[in-house]
Amino acid sequence: MKKGLSARAKITLWFSVAMILIVLLTYALIFLVNRQVIQKTIRDNLIETVENNVDEIEFYKYISKEDFDKDIDYYIQYGDGYLEIDDDFLDEVNQVYTALYTTDGEFVYGENIAASATASLSFVNVSVQEADVDGELYYVYDKRLDAEGLEGLWLRGTVSESQGEQSLTATARIALIILPSLVVIAIIGGFLFARRVLSPINKISLAAAKIRQGDDLKQRIEIGEGNDELHALAEQFNDMFSRLDDSFTAQQQFVSDASHELRTPVAVMLSQCELSRQCGGGELSEDMQVIERQARKMNRLINDMLSFTRMELTPERYTFERLSLSKLSESICFDMSLIKENDITLEYTIEDDIYINANRELMTGLITNLISNAYRYGKHGGHIWVSLKSDDKKAYLTVKDDGIGIDEKELKNIFKRFYQTDSSRNGAGTGLGLAIVKEIAALHSGEISVQSEPNVGSEFTFSIDKLK
Ligand code: ADP
Repeated sequence: MKKGLSARAKITLWFSVAMILIVLLTYALIFLVNRQVIQKTIRDNLIETVENNVDEIEFYKYISKEDFDKDIDYYIQYGDGYLEIDDDFLDEVNQVYTALYTTDGEFVYGENIAASATASLSFVNVSVQEADVDGELYYVYDKRLDAEGLEGLWLRGTVSESQGEQSLTATARIALIILPSLVVIAIIGGFLFARRVLSPINKISLAAAKIRQGDDLKQRIEIGEGNDELHALAEQFNDMFSRLDDSFTAQQQFVSDASHELRTPVAVMLSQCELSRQCGGGELSEDMQVIERQARKMNRLINDMLSFTRMELTPERYTFERLSLSKLSESICFDMSLIKENDITLEYTIEDDIYINANRELMTGLITNLISNAYRYGKHGGHIWVSLKSDDKKAYLTVKDDGIGIDEKELKNIFKRFYQTDSSRNGAGTGLGLAIVKEIAALHSGEISVQSEPNVGSEFTFSIDKLK
């Protein structure tokens, strides 16, 4: 299954993209508003400076020599008198330059940073004009002087549009640092928050997976106290698990009780068959033979069902001990090698002194089941090889045969309850042997695996942690 993004990643991604878009939009807005405000300020500043300078120019027909010498103001001969430029006249303030011109454009006094470019610009009273000098924009403001004696004179103020750029970049620089930092903090915060809020979902999914893997309906989802939707969901799940567990246990109990009850009638049937055999001089009629065969099969089935449900319902009844797997397997192999059913030979190689933590009865069941199957599905005159080996950590018990083998597509099913392959359905088996083996392996935290090839043979391996 293709794994997409996790919910946490999706939320964080959405959140991050939204944050970045908002920040970009904010940037655009800051630049736009900032620029407009600054441009307006520059123009206002220009007009104000020029207007203030208007009063600093006066015309005098005569001035005394004394005035001329002592006054700190500046005098320029103009027409039939003098222009007095007050010392408060600001020819440059805040990069706004003011200069005095005649109507013909002749420079009289002051400063103009864009003199050459604005020379061709005709005077327009109280209006802001624009002039381009080598790609740089200048604002130009003209004011006609109309006080007595000053007719024919113009004040021209000039300021560069780039004057506002400095303060613009300063604001932008602050925004450039602060906004991305806020975005990073918000994204990290959002990610952590999403992780915290969504962590119960992970726990729910982990618990569900555990239940599925181990078929353990006793597992519960533990996500602590809380009142939100996820806690409610976990509670619903736990409720569902406990109901399923109850009904499953009831079902197992029923199977266990039924098997128990069936034991007596089957035992009676078998003893009646035995009685008939004795009465018939050691022989049974064909009909009675069928009944006896089926009663034996039913007896095995009942015993298997009982051991299975006992393991599931009350696993605590099986006590674990330090068990010599070497001695146990050796004695089982010895006993079972005497069966010689179907002329099959059982050979065994057992490594000494392998100890495990196990229940003797269950371990005996596991080994006996595997060897019985090897006999049951072995070919006439075939072989069974049992080996017990170990490495640093684990013990490996292998039961191998050269019998009928198992088709690849059936391999995944053989450990299921009551599963029998077509070739063995009418035999003596019950279909529960390997399910019991698997259950015993699980109870011991061990593993059972199989390799098989039709008409070549099968190899079952049980692995379990060793004790030192
Ligand atoms: P059964 O009582 O039918 O033997 P099991 O659970 O022991 O049930 O085994 C399930 C099925 O797996 C059997 O019906 C058989 O087809 C197959 N099987 C088990 N062991 C072997 C083996 N050693 N060789 C071939 N087939 C086997």
